[in-house]
Amino acid sequence: MKKDWIKQVSILLITTGSWLIPYAQSVSRLHEKAIVVDTHNDCLTELTLDGKDISGHLSTGHSDLYRWKKGGLDVQFFSVWTDKTPRRPAGFFHDALEEIDSLHRIILRNPDRMTFADTYRQVKKRSHQGKLVSLIGVEGGHMIEEDLGKLDSLYTLGMRYLTLTWNNSTSWASSAMDETNYPERIKHKGLNDFGKQVVQRLNELGVMVDLSHVGEQTFYDAIAVTTKPVILSHSSVWSICPVFRNVKDDQIRAVAKNGGVICINFYSGFISKEYDQLQKRLFERKDSLQGGLLAQGLPQSNRNQIMSAFDQTYDSLMNAARPSLSQLVDHIDYIVKLVGDKYVGIGSDYDGVGSVPVGLEDVTTYPKITEELLRRGYSKKSIKRILGGNVLRVMKANF
Ligand SMILES: [Zn+2]
Repeated sequence: MKKDWIKQVSILLITTGSWLIPYAQSVSRLHEKAIVVDTHNDCLTELTLDGKDISGHLSTGHSDLYRWKKGGLDVQFFSVWTDKTPRRPAGFFHDALEEIDSLHRIILRNPDRMTFADTYRQVKKRSHQGKLVSLIGVEGGHMIEEDLGKLDSLYTLGMRYLTLTWNNSTSWASSAMDETNYPERIKHKGLNDFGKQVVQRLNELGVMVDLSHVGEQTFYDAIAVTTKPVILSHSSVWSICPVFRNVKDDQIRAVAKNGGVICINFYSGFISKEYDQLQKRLFERKDSLQGGLLAQGLPQSNRNQIMSAFDQTYDSLMNAARPSLSQLVDHIDYIVKLVGDKYVGIGSDYDGVGSVPVGLEDVTTYPKITEELLRRGYSKKSIKRILGGNVLRVMKANF
């Protein structure tokens, strides 16, 4: 009898060896083993414009090489971005070249900590070298300046996804911002013939078609044209937080059917409906306060004083309204429950957003997502898919 009991326990220990490992250790082991991919980080813009140096340990912003290491991130897509008006007369394409140049220079300055990649095989191989594998995503079709030759040039320089639009529509694709809020700005709703050629060219070259930021019409037009799996590099779930930048259930189903991946954006206003609604109410109040002060004819200095007090209150209210880490993981959960665990990933938008959930303050915090998924009973296989495996599959299908 006693022998039987010992045998039972021995079998239990052998078959469930992980019981012997403390929980925190099993989180860190799993996180370390997984190839962790973030498909969207905006730090390149500050690096280009303000000379910010991510080599050191920075006290501001979300990202630097020291903190990426701590967060166990293996692969980072750096977003190449410029606003809806170009920085210099040379134009949007030139702005993109400047940002790409910044990335290459930072990699050259940190050869022991960063490495560039533009093929799936390189990503797989180099993600085990202990360096941050760095790829380029171009955020906004305006940077090709309606010229497939410029698209080809960006590909040659390493672009591995192109977000068809940013908030601004192009002549060939309408954005989510314009389709939702400013339809009068749209010249052609969805993709026109040139827009379809862009998608085809991206497919031919092996550049992922990124459908974050695009309007629903553009989304469905692109899904109909593409022959390869698409990516949404930084978008969350509309059913949980109904804002223009998030994707609806039918869109999530369409991405799953296409074999693509939706990478969850960390922005508080895309995660929490309450955060978004409070922000809208406070913006309205700010507008009416400003109008009222002007109507009263108060001197500028008094107006400034009142407005700065308002801004302080705004900051503290918005800070208190930040969603939790668990609310972010709810977005992952939602997609998994709707279509399975093969179509969701992480696209933080770090250094591109002003507010992130409590607990996800910077790039050191990715392991907390692993921990929360484990706590919710996700299998290791499933967690590895979500942390990066799904994006790697879409990369492989494209380049
Ligand atoms: Zn964006």
